[in-house]
Amino acid sequence: MKRIAIDMDGVIADYLSKQLALFNRDHNENITVEDLKGKKLIELRPHLKDEIMNYLKEPSFFRDLEVMKDSQEVIKELSEHYEIFITTAAMEFPTSFTAKYEWLREHFSFLNDMNFVFCGDKSIINADYLIDDNVRHFKRFSGQGILFTSPHNVYETGYVRVNNWQEVRDYFLK
Ligand SMILES: [Mg+2]
Repeated sequence: MKRIAIDMDGVIADYLSKQLALFNRDHNENITVEDLKGKKLIELRPHLKDEIMNYLKEPSFFRDLEVMKDSQEVIKELSEHYEIFITTAAMEFPTSFTAKYEWLREHFSFLNDMNFVFCGDKSIINADYLIDDNVRHFKRFSGQGILFTSPHNVYETGYVRVNNWQEVRDYFLK
């Protein structure tokens, strides 16, 4: 069986909607996903970098994120043909570990716990494919990188790109 490694944030877990809602509420702003084309929130409001990062350092931040549309159904289907690992760069926010683990147990209970990988540098991952929204993880990845579209990466070129989970399904099962 070929092995697919799948990122969490921005791929199966929608952190952006929550981060944006909290930021807009606390700073009385009305920034939309459209405003974030080609950049992250910290690049749009660099003087508020610490405040923006603090949302993600809050231990419970990741616990109630929305599941990305169709990701559960498609991953369940893929798991019949591929070995699936969820690989998340948890060392960026070590306080998020428990919330992320509980979130995976709640929403992806059909996957074995042993297939959840909380890691630092993703170049250690040995898989045939990596689905991720950050191109930096592909630089030293030996398999096929697949860029999952997120507002911040819309202008990245030169990668295999999927825009949603139905396109992931088409890529692997057609
Ligand atoms: Mg990500």
